[in-house]
Amino acid sequence: IDKIIRAEEEGRPFWSFEYFPPKTTAGVQNLFDRMERMYSLGPEFVDITWNAGGTSSDLTSELVATAQSVYGLETCMHLTCTNMPKEKIDVALKAAKACGNQNILALRGDPPRGQDQWVSCDNGFAYASDLVAYIREQYGDYFSIGVAGYPEGHLDSVDKEVDFEWLKFKVDQGADFIVTQLFYDTKLFIDWVKECRQRGITVPIVPGIMPIQSYGGFNRMTSLCKTFVPEEIRHALDPIKEDDQAVKDYGVKLAVQMCKEIKAAGINGFHFYTLNLEKSTRLILEGLGFVAPRENVRQLPWNPSLSKKRE
Ligand code: FAD
Repeated sequence: IDKIIRAEEEGRPFWSFEYFPPKTTAGVQNLFDRMERMYSLGPEFVDITWNAGGTSSDLTSELVATAQSVYGLETCMHLTCTNMPKEKIDVALKAAKACGNQNILALRGDPPRGQDQWVSCDNGFAYASDLVAYIREQYGDYFSIGVAGYPEGHLDSVDKEVDFEWLKFKVDQGADFIVTQLFYDTKLFIDWVKECRQRGITVPIVPGIMPIQSYGGFNRMTSLCKTFVPEEIRHALDPIKEDDQAVKDYGVKLAVQMCKEIKAAGINGFHFYTLNLEKSTRLILEGLGFVAPRENVRQLPWNPSLSKKRE
């Protein structure tokens, strides 16, 4: 992934999609259908998240294998240290390599549900940087390794300065690129990138964009992550909060505006937290002019001689 990002950072915009493992079999089938449809939106890569605590980690490995080897999507597997002794990390990395996957987002993980403090497990790692170093030690350059970055600082961090130091440390341990936590203040993100560069963090940084898809979901997510929400966004949402469609439309408009501001600052890649949904992400890409609006995509009339030719 870092090679793709570096090549495209030179000018052409790129985008990637993040999916999470669904809870039910029907959800998994829906996700595959969606991934297939969203393939046509041309993501440079897709991410599959890892459930810290381990409840759906086998499913992550399965989804990674399908996305990578069946759909041919460049896939990035998230991997966390929560409740993951080295032996389990080894199993997950081996499975990733076996299906041709070459990208890992190395994370510490959050505490499992019902637990306040994060604690490392026996024979496990304490920080994402340990995991990065371990993957490099075991696999050399086979994997492209990404890590998480926090434009507003990580929640456990005592101060922002220390956070920069640990981020730099993760990169020094061998990380190739950074994907950020969601944010809604683009200036804050752009300033943070500048500060990273001043501190010698030179790897590509991809902003994590979470389109607002529902008022409740937005509030839940921003409270959980303690995300700063600019006053104008609160003002815009307040009068429409009961109208689901109006909230979705606003979410698309806001994300298009954020991406344009980020692009104007010279950053050309965007990582979309899709929440396993297609429409908002598609409309944002259309709004940015990155993909053609769906109604303009010409369908070939059914023509038996043509399909024969294609066979
Ligand atoms: P770390 O980089 O290890 O940092 C954790 C804290 O420790 C920070 O406060 C940091 O400043 C500090 N620190 C780091 N290194 C050291 C050190 N050596 N000594 C002392 N202090 C240190 N969670 C999931 O469960 N599954 C996912 O799939 C997932 N995907 C994510 C994707 C992205 C893009 C992002 C931004 C987050 C994701 N998360 C995911 C959430 C993530 O696991 C949490 O935010 C977690 O609390 C921190 O993970 P980290 O990898 O950033 O940790």
